[in-house]
Amino acid sequence: MTDKAKYIIDYLDEILKDARCALNYSKDYELVIAVMLSAQVTDNAVNKVSDVLFKRYPTLESLSQASYDDVCSIIKSLGLYKNKAQNVILIAQDILNNFDGKVPSSKKDLMSLRGVGNKTANVVRCELFSLPEFPVDTHINRISKRLNIAKENDDINTVEAKLKKVFPRDHYIKLHHQLIHFGRTICKSLSPKCNECKLQKYCKYYKDNYLK
Ligand code: SF4
Repeated sequence: MTDKAKYIIDYLDEILKDARCALNYSKDYELVIAVMLSAQVTDNAVNKVSDVLFKRYPTLESLSQASYDDVCSIIKSLGLYKNKAQNVILIAQDILNNFDGKVPSSKKDLMSLRGVGNKTANVVRCELFSLPEFPVDTHINRISKRLNIAKENDDINTVEAKLKKVFPRDHYIKLHHQLIHFGRTICKSLSPKCNECKLQKYCKYYKDNYLK
């Protein structure tokens, strides 16, 4: 591991020791649905609607038979809610019909669920199965570029591959959560709190904005 990687790990452990998934769920399939719902919206917004959704439909069976219009009315505060409502029902049906009601762990099986792409599958693999994935969201993408781990025009898959190369496998899951929280609270998209941050010496954004 490089000095830079170790420094980042130690710093994030110092300020965000207990970072964890911010989506609420109590059953395996609820996590899959919550992650799918979180595309382009905040975890808080998802938690507000998923609380109602999972109480109204408390089992996989009930969710698989839910009325599309009713699911739309519950989640309509979320962007893309029409597609997402359809996916809620289809995911429940797929897990029930194709996987005996248990969320599968392989990426191929997860991505066979309708509405589940690479990032959602990776989040589920980390969170439910503790498998060493490094899902890249908007915060991790931005921070990786600011810290010169990835290049500005790298796509999400390239950023993920570079993160996996830089950091040891046993740190992937924790770092994933820590970087998301770091992006929400300190290294924000607009007006990052650089004066509070100890990563300045590795930061391209800091050099470009404060040292020129
Ligand atoms: S110095 Fe600023 S831009 Fe760089 S990582 Fe820290 S908060 Fe983010």
